[in-house]
Amino acid sequence: RKELAKGSPLSWQETKQKASHVRKHGLKQFINIYNKTKDTRSPALKWGDEIEYMIIALDQSAKTAHVSLRSNEILESLQREEIENPETARFLWRPEYGAYMVEGTPGKPYSGVLKDLLTVEPCMIQRRKEIQKYLKSNEIAVTLTSYPRLACPFFSEPPLPQESSSSKSTFFPDMAINHMYPRYRAITFNTRERRGDDYHIRIPVMKDQLTRNSITEVFEFEEEEVEETLTESIPNFVCYDSVDGMGYCCLQVTFQAFNMDEARTLYDQLAPICPILLALTAASPVHRGFLTGTDCRWNIISQCVDCRTKEERGLEPLSRDRFIIPKSRYDSISAYISNEGSRYNDVPVVLNDHYLLELLEAGVEEPIARHIAHLFVRDPLVLFSEKVDQEDEKEIDHFDNIQSTNWQTVRLKLPLPDTDVGWRVEFRPCEVQITDFENAAFVCFIALLTRIILSYKLNFLIPISKVDENMKRSQEKDAIKNCKFYFNSNPFDSDSDEVTEMTINEIINGKDGYFSGLIPLVESFLNATEIEAETHQRLHDYLRLISGRASGELQTAASWIRSFVRSHPSYKFDSQVTEEITYDLITAINQLEQGTRKEPLLYGY
Ligand code: ADP
Ligand code: MG
Ligand code: MG
Ligand code: MG
Ligand code: MG
Repeated sequence: RKELAKGSPLSWQETKQKASHVRKHGLKQFINIYNKTKDTRSPALKWGDEIEYMIIALDQSAKTAHVSLRSNEILESLQREEIENPETARFLWRPEYGAYMVEGTPGKPYSGVLKDLLTVEPCMIQRRKEIQKYLKSNEIAVTLTSYPRLACPFFSEPPLPQESSSSKSTFFPDMAINHMYPRYRAITFNTRERRGDDYHIRIPVMKDQLTRNSITEVFEFEEEEVEETLTESIPNFVCYDSVDGMGYCCLQVTFQAFNMDEARTLYDQLAPICPILLALTAASPVHRGFLTGTDCRWNIISQCVDCRTKEERGLEPLSRDRFIIPKSRYDSISAYISNEGSRYNDVPVVLNDHYLLELLEAGVEEPIARHIAHLFVRDPLVLFSEKVDQEDEKEIDHFDNIQSTNWQTVRLKLPLPDTDVGWRVEFRPCEVQITDFENAAFVCFIALLTRIILSYKLNFLIPISKVDENMKRSQEKDAIKNCKFYFNSNPFDSDSDEVTEMTINEIINGKDGYFSGLIPLVESFLNATEIEAETHQRLHDYLRLISGRASGELQTAASWIRSFVRSHPSYKFDSQVTEEITYDLITAINQLEQGTRKEPLLYGY
């Protein structure tokens, strides 16, 4: 796996000096792949999910649940099967940013949607069992988007002092970053170096009855900012001061498309679905030990990995840098890439004109050329000394380097030349859910959405500016209850620009006279398809879960976690999520995953 190679990263200064080199060759590599693969057809539908897990060490007598920094030891055992028998490995395991995280995927992609929908959940259950084999008796693996006390004092096992060098973080020690794969520390260090100024990531604390007005943490804010906080009496914030936010877990799904055009269509059509699914999967209301005003990880990570300089953020006139870049590298997409999509691109896209020209001259279709010229306004964040010089005809690392550090809500994945891996689209916004039942439900729902989009030729596009607005709303506390979202309410008419503001309930379950609803659409697709009774029944369970979440009849993980904290006997209504509450919460989550605890408000049973 090139992407995760254990090489020697160059210093930031050297990486920066070689940035143009990486881009220049990355672009050539892209053009080579494009020319080799643009006509690739992949009749077989293949697809698969990725789940990120956290390893937690429980201490029953002390009542603590800390992240266990053993993921590399565990990963080594997990990967043995793949190393010995890559063809038959049941799962593939990969490192992740946190030294307490691992990522697992099926060993082979699923094939054919309806046929394989019923294999998704068992595959997830088996994956979890597989990790459990290598845990110590006091450890558990949970699928929790945010560890509630991440970057609090002594949040790990073994405990670490809060001093640090890569990230210069006051809160997040280096040793909590995966150190076996130097890529992660290099990302952390280089993001900060590139950015140049300090981070002030502030997540508003959810004000509860007894929340104190000044929370005791001390931050080195610029003076004007402190004043601003006081005069406007903004409520309290919890802060991150580094790339720590990469230590969250998520759920992703990748679909192979029939050809490039289908991939472009899917990429576009899934983009406006992202904020809706982000709100439905919301699972991270607690950060750095406080209940906060947000339900999701997305914007936090977005700020944590925001390597733009002051000039690029538009705070200083451009002198050293070339572009004002409106978005972080981790953000919602900037533009649609299908031919139908172009008229919804209402936000100017920053792109590198020289590269655009070169791509067009090489025969790359314009929307794709613009997409790549946009991704290529970024510098590489990490460069391994072993990878500086590459044969552009044979290698793709420089292209991958830029592509894989553009963390957008959907990603267009290119075919791998000389293999049967075709054009793919990755759906990236979802927060990981507590149980495999829920994760399977969302993965299957998204898979079915891709099928109805393609079979019914649906058009969910709305202007990009509205997708951006939806992304903001989707992460608010209780967005499902409180927010409306822009949605194309006439998806059957490809020319329709009927953008209506609807609740998630209306989008998912339908609104009389306006929109039939995504679930009724999926159901009519299922009814029109020959499908085994058993499959239909399980899918029905999945759809009922999502329908219930949308209507508010069931809680999102975020809202369940909030109520768990607020009804904990030791909660002081001061927004603080203590070690003890965290211990009980994670124990409860483990019981949910094991099926030994029931939460009808979360699952309907
Ligand atoms: P990344 O981390 O780059 O997003 P991963 O390899 O971790 O990629 O996960 C990719 C997902 O795509 C896995 O679930 C895998 O099973 C699935 N997958 C693999 N090959 C294909 C393919 N040809 N088409 C669609 N999905 C695939
Ligand atoms: Mg992956
Ligand atoms: Mg991952
Ligand atoms: Mg992925
Ligand atoms: Mg990845």
